[in-house]
Amino acid sequence: MRILLFGPPGVGKGTQAQLLTEKYDMVRLSSGDLLREEVSLSSPIGKKVEQFLRKGHLVPDDIIYELVDSFLLENKESDILFDGFPRNLNQARSLEKSLAQLGQTIDIAFEMYLDEEDLIKRLTDRRYCPKCGRIYNSTTNPPKTEGICDVDRVKLSRREDDNPDVIKRRLTIYKDETRPLVNYYKSLNIYRRIDAKGNQEEVLGRISEAVNGHIDNKCRSN
Ligand code: ADP
Repeated sequence: MRILLFGPPGVGKGTQAQLLTEKYDMVRLSSGDLLREEVSLSSPIGKKVEQFLRKGHLVPDDIIYELVDSFLLENKESDILFDGFPRNLNQARSLEKSLAQLGQTIDIAFEMYLDEEDLIKRLTDRRYCPKCGRIYNSTTNPPKTEGICDVDRVKLSRREDDNPDVIKRRLTIYKDETRPLVNYYKSLNIYRRIDAKGNQEEVLGRISEAVNGHIDNKCRSN
């Protein structure tokens, strides 16, 4: 099974991706995490992409393809959840091609949506654990002890691109570059829209309902 999550920054993709991979035993391809890892390792790719991430611009497609294609090869036997990739039409077409070479297709493309005011609030209040990557929110999903990861007990961090100017730019880039994926996936008949309002479990319930329905259909047609 290959599932894709897209939506504006702050909509809760990362959180849902983490919950879904655990629930359905999938591996997660988060292009943002792959890029941040390269930056933290100061690898040649990391050095090239650092400025793009800091400013909230999209990283050039060829760099993304390099990371994604090696991930797909390494994980060709696994169910995959795509989180934050593809981010524009070229990337979407490239993903179709790469999957086709492996005899695979995308099962469902979920667009998560939320109004802009809520998005900005979620991003401003977002914190993450630098050790395990768990995501917290100081208002909707606070850690048990303020500023400390519940699991690792280390101090939570704020992403460098979660500041007001960069947040605005990322939202604009989302509307211009990523939203056209809606029509693309509608034309492939795999598009599903998910309301991202409410707590993590509520949103997970909405996505899971669609995933379970898809799994049932697949079983029946086999
Ligand atoms: P968010 O969706 O909250 O912006 P991500 O972790 O998905 O967070 O991405 C962070 C940054 O990484 C983006 O602002 C962009 O610079 C870069 N990035 C992530 N995925 C891609 C992609 N598929 N193509 C180009 N740039 C990307």
